[in-house]
Formats: sequence, C-alpha cells, structure tokens
Amino acid sequence: MPIKAKGLLIVVTGPSAVGKGTICRALLQEAPDIRFSVSVTTRPARPGEVHGVEYFFCSHREFEQKIKAGELLEWAEVYGNYYGTPRQYVEEVTNAGQSVILDIDMVGARAVRSQYPGAVSVFVIPPSMEALRQRILGRGTESDEAVQRRLAEAPKWIEEGLNYEYVVVNDDLTAAVGHLRSVVNAEMSRTARQGGALIRRLLEKGELD
Ligand code: ADP
Ligand code: 5GP
Repeated sequence: MPIKAKGLLIVVTGPSAVGKGTICRALLQEAPDIRFSVSVTTRPARPGEVHGVEYFFCSHREFEQKIKAGELLEWAEVYGNYYGTPRQYVEEVTNAGQSVILDIDMVGARAVRSQYPGAVSVFVIPPSMEALRQRILGRGTESDEAVQRRLAEAPKWIEEGLNYEYVVVNDDLTAAVGHLRSVVNAEMSRTARQGGALIRRLLEKGELD
C-alpha cells in the first residue's frame, strides 16, 4: 500500500481587504501542489468574477439546501451575505494527499479549527490601520456604508488573531507570500505529516521516488 500523508488544510483569515485573496492567489500561482477551495456565496458577483473561479454564486434558497444536505464544511454570514466551504472538495483533496487553502472569515475559521484540530491557521494583518483603510477604499468594490462597516469591525477581527498559530504581515506582497509558503513548508515537514511518511517510504522502498 502506498504511504501517503494527508494534505494540509490551511485556513487563511484576517480583516476584510487585508489582502487574503491577493496573497492566496499569488501563492497558488507558484505552488501547483496547493489547491484553492472555491466557496459558495449568496453575494452577487462583482464585475469580472466568474462562477466556479472566485466563487460558486447561488441563491439564498440553494444555500439553505446545501446547509441542510450537510454539503458545507462551515458557513457564515459575512456583511449580509452567506459564504460556505464545500465539504466534498476539501475532503477529496486532502485525502488524496494534496493541501488545500481556505480564504474565509473569522467565524468560519473558528468552525474549521474546532472540527479539524490539525488545520493550519494563519492570520493576516496589515502593516497599519491606515493601510487597511486605503486597501478597503482602493479596492472600490464596496458601497460607502459597507466600507465604514468593515473599517469599524477591523479591530475586533485583529484581536481575534491572538488565537491563531501563525501571523503573516501583508506589507510587501512578495514577502507575505514567501512567509505563507514558509509556514506551509514547515508544517508539511512535520514528522507527524509528510516528514514521517517520507521516512517510512525510504525504509520500505530504499528510495523516496
Ligand atoms: P481580502 O481578500 O483580504 O478581502 P483583497 O485580496 O481583495 O483582500 O485585497 C484588498 C485590496 O488590497 C486589493 O485592492 C489588493 O490589490 C490590495 N492589496 C493586497 N495586498 C496588498 C499589499 N501587500 N500592498 C498593497 N495593496 C495590497
Ligand atoms: P468578499 O465578499 O470580499 O469576497 O469576501 C468577504 C469575506 O468572506 C472575506 O473575509 C472572505 O474571507 C470571507 N469568505 C469567503 N469565502 C468564505 C467561506 O466559504 N466561508 C466563510 N466563513 N467566509 C468566507
């Protein structure tokens, strides 16, 4: 029987507009071994967003059906819309030994961490509150009211970061992506994960490939 470690479940969270999506996209471009979990949402698509790429867009009714059917690993209401992680994809990918990254809010991150104690949790913070404000405004995707709401909630989010295993500062994007990659590499190297599987494979076959 081939010896294969389960893939990592990597949870990336942090305040709105800190750059979670930007960091995850950049990491995925240079890390073909990591998959992205595309969430389901009731939020309307923004210009340029494609169904199945950024999100699976659906109605409230469809979302409720998915909750009832147990199809969502976690879900949360974020700024008036529902977002959830499809369970099947995450389980298939990790069981196949590949790592999967989830870009989700604080409530969802809590739910994942309690269900999957082995999940790697990463909290992204901005270099300053002013930088966060500039990013929310600069993205230009929210109404004035939504911007004010996200800014007002930012300190609550940031305090939550104290409970996380890892903190990544998103100041210089390249450095932040490198930092996240280092976290993933370190976690994969743990003997309880890939490290141990490598040792067992070497002993069993005399070589690693
Ligand atoms: P989130 O997914 O956390 O809500 P986004 O990835 O959508 O945030 O990023 C919010 C805005 O901040 C975007 O306009 C993005 O281009 C910008 N941004 C992301 N990372 C950086 C960075 N390191 N420096 C400056 N701007 C950034
Ligand atoms: P946006 O609407 O800007 O794309 O995302 C708003 C927030 O929803 C972000 O903080 C994002 O991380 C979070 N989010 C995206 N997908 C999910 C998900 O599947 N579950 C949860 N709980 N939050 C999500």
